[in-house]
Amino acid sequence: MTYHEFHDQVYCEEMRRRKGLPNGSIQWKGTDVCIDLNCRCGADFHFDGDFLYFVQCPYCKEIFAVGTVVDLIPLTPEQLAFIQEDRPNLIKTPEKCPWD
Ligand SMILES: [Zn+2]
Repeated sequence: MTYHEFHDQVYCEEMRRRKGLPNGSIQWKGTDVCIDLNCRCGADFHFDGDFLYFVQCPYCKEIFAVGTVVDLIPLTPEQLAFIQEDRPNLIKTPEKCPWD
């Protein structure tokens, strides 16, 4: 298997499965992350550091690729009004994609 094939099978497939749902894909740049993780064995654990591309559960030892997909959570009108009043500077409007 080439890395290109691995990337398509693991990461691109995840994006294809979620097409049409509000979500995003993080382009990890080897940057610092603080993340709570849940393994399918039922264990919960935490990682705080750089370069988290693959993770091994400290309990069952299964190794996972760290996904890139994050959910975009729709807000109720009440929640939206609260954020617009309480934290307006945290609402970002990115540029439109140049390929659209
Ligand atoms: Zn586990």
